Amino acid sequence: MKEACGVFGVYAPGAFVSQLTFDGLFALQHRGQESAGMAVSDGERITVLKDMGLVTSVFDERGLSSLQGDLAIGHTRYSTTGPSTWHSAQPVYRPAGKAGFALGHNGNLTNTESLAIEAGMLGALTSDSDVVAELLAQGFPEEEEGLSEPDEEGSDHLLAALHAVLPRLKGAFAFALMDADRLVAVRDPHGFRPLCLGRLDYKVDEGPRTGWVIASESPALDICGAELVREIEPGEMIVIDATGPKSYWPFGEEAKDAHLCVFEFVYFARPDSRLRNREVYSVRRRMGELLAGQDPVEADLVIGVPDSGVVAAEGYAAASGISFGQGLIKNRYIGRTFIAPTQEARALGVRRKLNPLRASIEGKRLIVVDDSIVRGTTTRQLVKMLKEAGASEVHLRISSPPFSWPCFYGIDTPSRDELLGAQLTPAEMNAHIGSDSLEFLSLPNLMEAVGADAEGHGVCRACLTGDYPTEVPLSLKDRSAMMERELVSSKP
Ligand code: SF4
Repeated sequence: MKEACGVFGVYAPGAFVSQLTFDGLFALQHRGQESAGMAVSDGERITVLKDMGLVTSVFDERGLSSLQGDLAIGHTRYSTTGPSTWHSAQPVYRPAGKAGFALGHNGNLTNTESLAIEAGMLGALTSDSDVVAELLAQGFPEEEEGLSEPDEEGSDHLLAALHAVLPRLKGAFAFALMDADRLVAVRDPHGFRPLCLGRLDYKVDEGPRTGWVIASESPALDICGAELVREIEPGEMIVIDATGPKSYWPFGEEAKDAHLCVFEFVYFARPDSRLRNREVYSVRRRMGELLAGQDPVEADLVIGVPDSGVVAAEGYAAASGISFGQGLIKNRYIGRTFIAPTQEARALGVRRKLNPLRASIEGKRLIVVDDSIVRGTTTRQLVKMLKEAGASEVHLRISSPPFSWPCFYGIDTPSRDELLGAQLTPAEMNAHIGSDSLEFLSLPNLMEAVGADAEGHGVCRACLTGDYPTEVPLSLKDRSAMMERELVSSKP
């Protein structure tokens, strides 16, 4: 599985907003490592700087010092739709109105094609975010100087375009937007992807000031010295200007139907993030504790698969009374999106990424805690590697239920044909992977850990149950089915 993207925005006139955006993006690097970018406004002009690569390789001190302004947005990208090229790096900019506007998007729309037809850009489609930017730009009146500023009647073209376009979008979107003077945050009515609001107290020569920050995850606020105010509500749009943040409900307040991606807790989010008023670290630990109560097994050592399996392993060890230790060392420099297009290359990727600590595991019966099994290729290699390093038994414990359905909401997952959870029972998976036993966290236990009720109100768990919270258009399902057919026909 590959991450969603990360979005960030800051409104802080007089502060070094490009540096704050750099820091925020650096804290969100785990959400996307293909490209990074930021847009900065000085009130008259928006400047966009973006490129392929990590945040630290895209921006340097000189570049940041040249980006002076009052507000900025930033984006780290992993491409779930559209190619991984400079043209699809974000923020997306459109020159509509006084100084244009810029947009950064986390999530996937499920009606991109019909929107692209509406926007007249089907052939030129680069990404769903590009289509949204184009529709918004088309919502502005024909170019005339000054038209993007509120006129005498108080009308406002960017807000009018947002109110007209947003209700037509389906699927998952957390947007950070800006024009010359305002920062805008939007979260879709299901709130699939996280987005939070922070307050930044800072000083300029004239004295203390209050600024505002928006970010996919709360650690991006912490790194800037901002204080978490709250999570932005599903279906809420917040507009921030010199008067502070104002909330709007472009989808209607009644449209709110929270479905935060449960894999944000399991895997995507940083452990120090706060989601649904819970610290992700504590939730992951609880997953491990609950997993220890399911089908206990005698063992000598509990180890976690870095990074997200380690916290659940701590919880497992605490609840089971079995010692916790390090058994796998991760190469810190490989990143989370080592791109391995073939099964063989993926298998090699495990050795590039992880190395066993022989002295710790030799002759031991291991409990190995990992966050999920998607294709099973890496897990199979991992078990083989641990056994070759001397483990006498490898009992796999997975801190989520079997991943059996594709995601249409911004997470890059293979088609159902490639998902091990869709093809095999847990017992068959155990045999296929070569582990001595295999146990998945049950769905009720996962719900308990994330603080949801048995029906899963408030969270999305569609990839575990096949019960999608929105209609998934036939075109997407067809595409998934088509991919499955292609895969089947390409098999030797
Ligand atoms: S389908 Fe799964 S990965 Fe996708 S948003 Fe829902 S819970 Fe997250």
